[in-house]
Amino acid sequence: MIWNKEMETMPRADIEKLQDERLRKLVAYVYERVPFYRQKLEAAGIHPDTFGGLAELTSLPFTRKNDLRDNYPFGLFAVPLPEVIRIHASSGTTGKPTVVGYTRNDIQTWAEVCARCLALSGAEPGEMFQNAYGYGLFTGGLGMHYGAELMGLTVIPVSGGNTARQIMIMQDFGPHIMACTPSYALTLADKILEEGINPEKLNLKVFILGAEPWTEAMRQELESKLKVHAVNIYGLSEIIGPGVSNECVEAKDGAHIFEDHFIPEVINPDTGEPVPDGEVGELVFTTLTKEAIPLLRYRTGDLASITREPCKCGRTHARMSRIIGRVDDMLIIRGVNVFPSQIEAALVGIPNITPHHRIIVTRENRLDQLEVQVEVTESFFRQVGEEMFMGHPESGVQDLKELEGLLFEALHDALGLNVKVTLLPPGQAPRSEGGKLKRVVDKRQLQ
Ligand code: ADP
Ligand code: ZN
Repeated sequence: MIWNKEMETMPRADIEKLQDERLRKLVAYVYERVPFYRQKLEAAGIHPDTFGGLAELTSLPFTRKNDLRDNYPFGLFAVPLPEVIRIHASSGTTGKPTVVGYTRNDIQTWAEVCARCLALSGAEPGEMFQNAYGYGLFTGGLGMHYGAELMGLTVIPVSGGNTARQIMIMQDFGPHIMACTPSYALTLADKILEEGINPEKLNLKVFILGAEPWTEAMRQELESKLKVHAVNIYGLSEIIGPGVSNECVEAKDGAHIFEDHFIPEVINPDTGEPVPDGEVGELVFTTLTKEAIPLLRYRTGDLASITREPCKCGRTHARMSRIIGRVDDMLIIRGVNVFPSQIEAALVGIPNITPHHRIIVTRENRLDQLEVQVEVTESFFRQVGEEMFMGHPESGVQDLKELEGLLFEALHDALGLNVKVTLLPPGQAPRSEGGKLKRVVDKRQLQ
């Protein structure tokens, strides 16, 4: 089903007309209410009375994550605090978290876009939804929760983690839809198969996965292991939380961005200039309807491309590709740009390994060294013998060397770099415990 047929299938010309109207109002709104934006607009020579709307979008100033930090915690809010009925914050692994607020209308908008995501993923009112996104300051849990209630799903607010309990609920309650991070979905899938549970006996029909990058290969693995659909959901706290875009289960070919609420742009991260549709650049969003913390041209740091080609599901909203990396996560190894997602993709299809791996960057004699540590499967581990990994090559040396060679070649083909390959015994690579997974260890700053 299409949750909001009028908005989601609106002809492009009408979408742009609506965006134009809303953008003009937004510029006047932030000019009046947010000193930070008044200053920025004045510096750019923009006044709401003469602003030319959508056609002049690129003349508006960018907003960066640092602007939120500099105005921590509430400096960018456009309404008095009593009108803010909810606060969330992003994890902020470095420094202060990024704080966002929601008015009552914002909470409604958020529920609306999350209900659209659920419908895009194939959920139908009356079905049951196991929400394994974290509840709390993180936007994932509560965002999807309200969307699911609005749609009329039966929500199980289990939150993240506690794999045994998740699986017990999947078996006993029989949810049709489940949302979590993709790495955690893999953890769940492995555990389910390990315990000899027949996935066909579960009611589950779709996994809604997001909050961190994942790949087509992970989709295939999950879909074939658990006999479900896996679709991509994207969002970030600054823009609203989950619910900025979601793939349609019909096409699974890019996530529809809710353009009546968010204007997407893709820019060259170095120059700030727009790049054409289909080309990868930094995603930038302008919120059109948010009241508490509306943002002009927010630079997400996420790299993706967008297309406005029609989609077979009938929706007209632009679609964005998967996030192929972050402006700030991109590793530069001996001058070559490397994204963790490329490494992940290169490992697919190689026998005897698991998708679990760790990426380590070091600097030896002023030369960057990329090491990829890949976990082997249980059966391979048993086959070559534990001694192999303990440095006593007796049996299986040939198999081990062969596997290392395959991995080396695959990574070399994908990255154009010589990568050090290390095989790990099963269970040694980091796993998701329900939240986001940190795969890359960059030791260069420390050396
Ligand atoms: P936190 O900072 O607490 O993790 P955020 O909501 O700020 O929470 O995280 C948003 C970021 O998560 C996005 O900018 C993007 O980098 C990443 N992200 C979210 N959804 C996806 C997705 N489907 N694919 C890849 N990355 C995603
Ligand atoms: Zn579609």
